[in-house]
Amino acid sequence: MKIKVNDKLRNTQELLSAEVLSNRVYELAQEINSSYPQDENLTVLIVLHGSLIFAADLVRHLTMPTEITTIDLKSYISDSSNGMKSSNNIKVLSKLPETIRDKNILIVEDIVDTGRTLKFLIALLTEHGVKSINTCTLLNKPSEHIEPIAPKFVGFDIGNVFVLGYGLDLNGKYRNLPHILELI
Ligand code: 5GP
Repeated sequence: MKIKVNDKLRNTQELLSAEVLSNRVYELAQEINSSYPQDENLTVLIVLHGSLIFAADLVRHLTMPTEITTIDLKSYISDSSNGMKSSNNIKVLSKLPETIRDKNILIVEDIVDTGRTLKFLIALLTEHGVKSINTCTLLNKPSEHIEPIAPKFVGFDIGNVFVLGYGLDLNGKYRNLPHILELI
């Protein structure tokens, strides 16, 4: 299915179709299910806003008792660089709940680029005294990692391209696309 939202999307091509995404998200959930004891509680930490759509699909395939919580982070600057510039400054726009202490956390990210966000989140959760931390990302750009971070569950390794759709934005827009496009 091709969705044409407006002319700005002319310089894009499909990287991952809705069907490919859906199949891989299901497989990832099975990997997560088999790596946790089924009677253990899991807290999925959704990193807003990028991983919202992915996480919503993923959690529906998880079989252990699962809680959902969110954290609102800003790590990309929307400026003259068209919203495509990585930022050193990670801002926490919402607080983690006090109840996060002693929980088994699965961080769900949309994409790991430099790895700074994931490193920051792991440090933050450790400060909050959580019981365990695992990491899951839909997309991973291994060639762009600055931090020595290896997410445990990875949907797709991709190259150094800017992607949008399925939760990922371009200047706040296009998160609603059912597939993932790359800028060309
Ligand atoms: P990192 O801290 O790993 O450099 O960046 C993580 C965040 O940068 C992601 O959660 C996402 O918000 C943003 N990001 C990195 N690469 C892309 C990309 O190709 N497209 C979009 N839309 N966001 C990206």
